[in-house]
Amino acid sequence: MSQLISKKLVLLGATGSIGESTLRIVRQHPERLSLLAIAGKSRWEPLAEIAREFGVRHVGIFDSDALDKARKSDAFPADTIFYEGVEGLIELACLPEANLVADAIVGTLSLKPALAALECGKDLALASKEILVMAGKFVTRAAKANNCRILPLDSEHNAIFQCLQGEEIESVAKLILTASGGPFRDFTTEQMASVTREQALKHPNWDMGPKVTVDSSTMANKGLEVIEAHWLFGLGRDQISVVVHPQSIVHSMVQHVDGSVIAHMSPPIMTFAIQHALLYPDRAIGVDKPIDFTEALQLDFRPPDYGKFPCLRLAMEAMAAEGIAPAVFNAANEVAVDAFLDEKIGYLDIARVVEGALETVPSRDPQVLDEILESDAEARRIAGEIAESLTAKA
Ligand code: NAD
Ligand code: MG
Repeated sequence: MSQLISKKLVLLGATGSIGESTLRIVRQHPERLSLLAIAGKSRWEPLAEIAREFGVRHVGIFDSDALDKARKSDAFPADTIFYEGVEGLIELACLPEANLVADAIVGTLSLKPALAALECGKDLALASKEILVMAGKFVTRAAKANNCRILPLDSEHNAIFQCLQGEEIESVAKLILTASGGPFRDFTTEQMASVTREQALKHPNWDMGPKVTVDSSTMANKGLEVIEAHWLFGLGRDQISVVVHPQSIVHSMVQHVDGSVIAHMSPPIMTFAIQHALLYPDRAIGVDKPIDFTEALQLDFRPPDYGKFPCLRLAMEAMAAEGIAPAVFNAANEVAVDAFLDEKIGYLDIARVVEGALETVPSRDPQVLDEILESDAEARRIAGEIAESLTAKA
């Protein structure tokens, strides 16, 4: 029996869907995981509850008004040290006692905190796929330079990570990412035209935050994940494919050069992937019921329909184009999803905004991070303009 590894965890995005699942795992394994710091955007009441329950002293609240309220309340333990804004997240990511930083902040805001964590020598458990899509070259470079691990929390990537244990990457022919296909996998394009916010926010298999739920329904999520896989495992576009698997039981597969396929299975609940990443290389009893093979189980697979899901096609094209194209895809998609959730544009407009931004933002091959940040800002501005023009037409 190996010696128990105990890790001190910084959890960025503690109040979200991944954050909550992470807390369930910390609760289950107090001897292996202790919560050193937490952070969220503005909902300070749940952060106070977490701080009290887990005895956390370091608390980041991004939003300054919310932070003011939190300070004035007596909801937090008396010895709480508060951190504000991105600078606060960076400080938390580099706390000297920490040895694992979990990044579960939606969007790209955590790019600098995640880079800081790696530069300070911390392993990074990563849910925020957007930062890899935007700046994978710089994030993976920082991990390598500082001898740190990026442990995937995203279920597909965690599945591939598990399938690759003990294997040489040279023996891999293909990574096969599974996709549920989302709630509209059997809709026609005409039916999709009238999809509402409420419909897009209901995923058939997964319970997730709003942005990733909409991304799953457009399959932009799978597109982001293909690019995420490219950076995590260092394989090119022709070695990463997508298959629709409506049951979400097989979380991804690795096909080797000899034709063997290794698949990872678990119920469609994020705790399986999160626990694996947090405890790696250890394993322990999980928090949710595993698959019960005494009950009938059917697994279906079919190819994706790129015509019906243009966001998936656009992501694949952005990956092939390289340079800043993936960052533009990601930024435009974030703007478009926000506009859709604000009911300013229609469902099919999401892909129109993304395609318009990809056609407009000039391509470049970023040598420094600032160039990505500039292109990201430009893509957001252009996507915003396209979204406004579509709102005006509606
Ligand atoms: P969510 O919307 O439920 O939660 C987002 C979290 O980020 C919240 O804690 C929020 O406070 C925090 N946050 C947002 N902006 C912030 C800011 N400016 N400063 C500090 N904190 C901020 O989202 P989620 O579903 O938990 O997803 C988080 C990430 O994980 C996303 O990148 C998503 O793609 C990825 N992911 C999620 C799932 C899932 O099942 N939910 C699965 C795989 C990957
Ligand atoms: Mg996923």
